[in-house]
Amino acid sequence: MEYPKVIEACPLCHCTERIVEQEVNIEKKEGRIGEARISTSSQKLLPIVDPLTSSIAFPVLQMFYDICANCGFEYPYIIKKERMTQDQLIALMKAQMGMK
Ligand SMILES: [Zn+2]
Repeated sequence: MEYPKVIEACPLCHCTERIVEQEVNIEKKEGRIGEARISTSSQKLLPIVDPLTSSIAFPVLQMFYDICANCGFEYPYIIKKERMTQDQLIALMKAQMGMK
């Protein structure tokens, strides 16, 4: 599979509009958010191997969810695969939880 995988439409109703993406795009147009920001209602990190047993970089799937503007279904619309070290994974998880 090629990454990043982008799912363009809601798997239930095939609508291509997403609620968080629409709001983030408004802020991008107004210049309050950088263009690189990925809009997401929630994010999931899934290490492919046990990060506690790996001292080198290991593959992690990053799934960015958003909410369908038509039916309200939350689905992963961008799936990335990146190699991370334990420290990078922990920093990303802390950032997701609002910790420094
Ligand atoms: Zn939908």
